[in-house]
Amino acid sequence: MTTEAYARPLPQSAAITPAAAARRLLAKHWDGRLPVVPEQIATAEGLRVERLGLFEDYEFSGEFLKSQRLIYVNEREPMVRQRFTLAHELGHYALGHENSPRDTSAEFSSRTGDPKERAANQFAAELLMPAEAVAKLVQSGRFGSVDELAKAFNVSKVAMTYRINNLGLLV
Ligand SMILES: [Zn+2]
Repeated sequence: MTTEAYARPLPQSAAITPAAAARRLLAKHWDGRLPVVPEQIATAEGLRVERLGLFEDYEFSGEFLKSQRLIYVNEREPMVRQRFTLAHELGHYALGHENSPRDTSAEFSSRTGDPKERAANQFAAELLMPAEAVAKLVQSGRFGSVDELAKAFNVSKVAMTYRINNLGLLV
């Protein structure tokens, strides 16, 4: 019998799933109110959020600059998209990724092949639409359509539909 196995630290990156990383930040910084405000969580983690695009050319949705603890968000895109972008970039931070390549809409697609982008999207989905909160609202019966749920979480209808299907819920 050896105790060596207990002394060895767990590899951190492998130990935590994107959803668990999101729940950890929610537990730390979220007051339980909907919609979740990703900017508040980013700021509470000591990150800066800057919006680009209104006065300068910026052809991306957003990016995360690790060394500067900085997230850029394209403010010309619709608010629900900006919220998802911010949550996605926060995912790159929380999952310990290096500087994200500048993200375009392709990275936010569920079909993206890059595992880091998929992980950041899974993180963003759990951050903005926590599984527990989605289940609670759906089961309350007070929300008759995906549209109403999307409004409660302040996400796009597409993101909400995808999330509900992923969680195996019916509206
Ligand atoms: Zn990304």
